[in-house]
Amino acid sequence: MCPSLTDGASASTDRSEMVGIENTNVGRPVPTNGVNGHANGHTNGANGHSSSTQRRNPYAPRASEFLNNVANFKIIESTLREGEQFANAFFDTKTKIAIAKALDAFGVEYIELTSPAASEQSRADCEAICKLGLRCKILTHIRCHMDDARIAVETGVDGVDVVIGTSSFLREFSHGKDMTYITKTAIEVINFVKSKGIEVRFSTEDSFRSDLVDLLSIYQTVDKIGVNRVGIADTVGCANPRQVYELVRTLRGVVGCDIEIHLHNDTGMAIANAYTALEAGATHIDTSVLGIGERVGITPLGGLVACLYAADPEYVKSKYNLPMLREIENLVAEAVEVNVPFMNPITGYCAFTHKAGIHAKAILNNPSTYEILKPEDFGLTRYVAIGHRLTGWNAVKSRVEQLNLTLTDEQIKDVTAKIKELADVRTQSLDDVDTILRVYHSGIQSGELAVGQKEALDRLLREHREAATRERGETEQPQVVAAAA
Ligand SMILES: [Zn+2]
Repeated sequence: MCPSLTDGASASTDRSEMVGIENTNVGRPVPTNGVNGHANGHTNGANGHSSSTQRRNPYAPRASEFLNNVANFKIIESTLREGEQFANAFFDTKTKIAIAKALDAFGVEYIELTSPAASEQSRADCEAICKLGLRCKILTHIRCHMDDARIAVETGVDGVDVVIGTSSFLREFSHGKDMTYITKTAIEVINFVKSKGIEVRFSTEDSFRSDLVDLLSIYQTVDKIGVNRVGIADTVGCANPRQVYELVRTLRGVVGCDIEIHLHNDTGMAIANAYTALEAGATHIDTSVLGIGERVGITPLGGLVACLYAADPEYVKSKYNLPMLREIENLVAEAVEVNVPFMNPITGYCAFTHKAGIHAKAILNNPSTYEILKPEDFGLTRYVAIGHRLTGWNAVKSRVEQLNLTLTDEQIKDVTAKIKELADVRTQSLDDVDTILRVYHSGIQSGELAVGQKEALDRLLREHREAATRERGETEQPQVVAAAA
């Protein structure tokens, strides 16, 4: 239950102003978290009362939620299909293979590839990836059309994802077909793919702006002829979690097959919508690495994993090789020439950095206080930034201990005041903080300094600075001479 220790010494090597800290919680039970990621007893009930001595989490899953698939789902990773629709994306064969292998090693259950009907290279790449012998299943995504289906089944894929637009917008302005035609073609294509002994999914496009009766009727029809999955797509990113819950739950009552959902992120809802879809009985979620795709893309793999890990860490850890996430995101970010966003769940620059003094104190006592994700489960390390004006003496104490210095709490509070004073002028790097701590410590040891002697400390720091400058001058001088010679 407790996270393994992280290496405090190595943690401080790559970010000079931060301190890697150890989990001091070994041996203590860590409270389990509810489905929404809040610690038990931490949040108030729906009615706002928190007086219950039982401290039950009102958001925890209930036994009656038999549809809930939050701990029983599969990921259909679409970086090599939806991701190809990202404005910056151009994946050559080598890059596609590298991404496919990385996703397979991470443990996604499916990889979805661009339609082989899109171009000759797309077809060749699809065949090449099918021949890699990956553990995950390979799918390709095609229009609901017999010509595309014939090409797709020849590539060696494990399944074909069929899609057609059903909203009035798409029926009027895109393919121009009515529901009778759509249904007839869907049956033909599904039966054809099934006859080849591979998986077939039928999805509508722009499902949330389609007529509900049309939707349920076609899903029911394809379910009856034995489709493996039906797919709902929020193609324009217009849905909110409540709408997603209602549509998936309604569909769950109408079909017996699996339910996949594809969610665009135009209003930032994609992760929340995916989570809600699972709660309502969806079985498969489409993702892409960093969420890349058409416009602002779809549910990001890392964000979804963070969200589902918060709900059920053990299940997610058992399915996926979580420490690979950073490598996969870096691989894709480089391929499409973007940076990993600073606020990215798990891998963002400051995802596990704690700054405020009050947070640092609690984190040192028990990381779960301010962390819903354990960095060590993702091969990462937490940091406490200490060289700033919001710092606190508990965080400074942790650094004092890492440096093997002996100071009393009173002395640590005294030196913390100095760090804050200096940080009011400019943020202090970890090197700066270490210097202050060492000078303070040696002043105390030699008797030149006592608590509250601000002038004596200023003098010692000034002398240290001057000595360091002299030393640098002496070591640099011979180099200057050598260079002149
Ligand atoms: Zn899409």
